[in-house]
Amino acid sequence: CGIVGYVGKNEGRTALDVALEGLARLEYRGYDSAGVAMVCGESVEVRKRSGKLANLLAEIEAHPMSPSRTAIGHTRWATHGGPTDQNAHPHRGGTDGKLALIHNGIIENFHSLKNELIGEGVEFASETDTEVVAQLLAKEYDGDLTESMRRVVQRLEGAFTLLAVHADQPGVVVGARRNSPLVVGLGEGENFLGSDVAAFIGHTKHAMEMEQDQIATITPDSVEVINFDGSAAEGKRFEVTWDAAA
Ligand code: GLU
Repeated sequence: CGIVGYVGKNEGRTALDVALEGLARLEYRGYDSAGVAMVCGESVEVRKRSGKLANLLAEIEAHPMSPSRTAIGHTRWATHGGPTDQNAHPHRGGTDGKLALIHNGIIENFHSLKNELIGEGVEFASETDTEVVAQLLAKEYDGDLTESMRRVVQRLEGAFTLLAVHADQPGVVVGARRNSPLVVGLGEGENFLGSDVAAFIGHTKHAMEMEQDQIATITPDSVEVINFDGSAAEGKRFEVTWDAAA
């Protein structure tokens, strides 16, 4: 139900702190589970728990995460699959531990996609509609997360905000949206993605709107937006006017 993405220049705790703070600020939207993923060296680390953010924090304390500069965070409002630890996001795709994805919304055609993937031998770890997208993206991945995401969204029906990270592209978060909100937060040497500006309001008031059927790729120094058809797009910049303390 809430989404945050962060990429900065320095490895450390910052990425984790930004993700957790963003999730706390998104709590007002309601949720039943929470999780984070970070690109750490050759793989992506994932921590996720059903219940309140406190459960996720306890899990991270029990199993500390490695320093990273790239993080995604999610609060879930279950639609497909009960509110369990396994169904919590992020979801992994593939078997090499390199890809993780979060999703707000519903993938209407997940059932046929799931059957197709099962027919190809893919094993699923959850009951969610979301994991289908993670597995499709892992299959499509060819070294370019943005283009792989662009191919995958062509196959999806329904409403989605998706964020993905891949260990082969540390320092990159890719976000896509259709019928579900996603905004970019513009920092200096760091950039953000959020389901609403609350996700990053503690860090920047410079933001960029995304239109329907667009993909944003953020690195510490760049933000690129394209349409699902591959054409370049120009995000509309705006300043967040309400106060972070509100
Ligand atoms: N449909 C997805 C699920 O049930 C995402 C729910 C959400 O928007 O949080 O896991």
